[in-house]
Amino acid sequence: MTRLLKGKDLIIASHNPGKVSEIAELIKPFGLRAISADSLGLEEPPETGITFQENAELKAKIASKSSGKPALADDSGLCINLLDGDPGIYSARWAGPTKDFSIAMGRVKKAIIDSGQNPGGQSAKFVCALSLCWDDGYYETFTGEINGELTFPPRGALGFGYDPIFVPKGFDITFGEMEPKKKHDMSHRAKAFRQLIDNCLNNV
Ligand code: IMP
Repeated sequence: MTRLLKGKDLIIASHNPGKVSEIAELIKPFGLRAISADSLGLEEPPETGITFQENAELKAKIASKSSGKPALADDSGLCINLLDGDPGIYSARWAGPTKDFSIAMGRVKKAIIDSGQNPGGQSAKFVCALSLCWDDGYYETFTGEINGELTFPPRGALGFGYDPIFVPKGFDITFGEMEPKKKHDMSHRAKAFRQLIDNCLNNV
């Protein structure tokens, strides 16, 4: 098993400042220095994969190859059973060019109604794939999921993206109504990170 070394740089292959700072926080206890791909002027590759894993891997591989350093990338989204996993890898794109998630949530509701079903109570999950690629091209990818169901109208302003319509299994509040710390302990991203930490970061 390959592990990262304390004091080394780790490229965060994302151009989303929110994601970069969230990941930087998560890896801080492990003595790694997070550097965003953006700050190095690295290009954001088109997400041409057809799975979360493929997209995370292609982003990590390209960032590592162009920087000559280990790179970490993630890809995530909301999958709805009734819609055959949509919006899935297109979750960000469903919000349109203005990245307006009220549009994306409205689109989800319409797609479910168009298929003849009731949007509330539909089973759904958030998925996150995290890929770490070393400078020699070796990579490892981890995935995390959280199951739940949809609720309409959207509730809560604490999260982002599709959080206001997602009620995690075993709860009666949406991710948008949940304290961020609680969400971050149980989320799809947290589950993928835990595996990455256990496999690649512990004891650095
Ligand atoms: P990515 O940056 O291509 O991985 O896009 C991920 C998209 O999936 C985000 O823009 C959100 O719309 C959605 N998403 C992923 N994780 C979450 C979450 O924890 N809450 C709400 N929406 C999420």
